Amino acid sequence: MISFYLRFYGYLLMSGDTRYCRNCGQSLDGNAEFCSKCGTRVASVQASTFFVERKSEGLAAVLSFFIPGLGQVYNGQIGKGIIVLILFALFTASIIVLIGFILAPLFWIWNIYDAHNTAKRINQRRA
Ligand SMILES: [Zn+2]
Repeated sequence: MISFYLRFYGYLLMSGDTRYCRNCGQSLDGNAEFCSKCGTRVASVQASTFFVERKSEGLAAVLSFFIPGLGQVYNGQIGKGIIVLILFALFTASIIVLIGFILAPLFWIWNIYDAHNTAKRINQRRA
């Protein structure tokens, strides 16, 4: 009965910052991987390492649609995003010398495609 109570109590407190063994309710060190009382593995309490961050492929594409490079930044490729934005600005500026009419739209489409694909790859890698 006491063991059941401790277990239930442990479950209740799981949501808080203090960590308790799921098996026996023993309070644990912040970094303990195993329960000091019953030896149950408790590392899974650190949920943050198990929550894989997913990227929205659609959102990445939409961001790059409106602001070239933003989808890349969203994917965590900040340097790439900045480069994409600078290149897009350069290509757009080159519209003045006509060739930009071809380069800017092509680069713009590539940037959306790249943001979408990178998000997809990130999701697949973490799946
Ligand atoms: Zn335990």
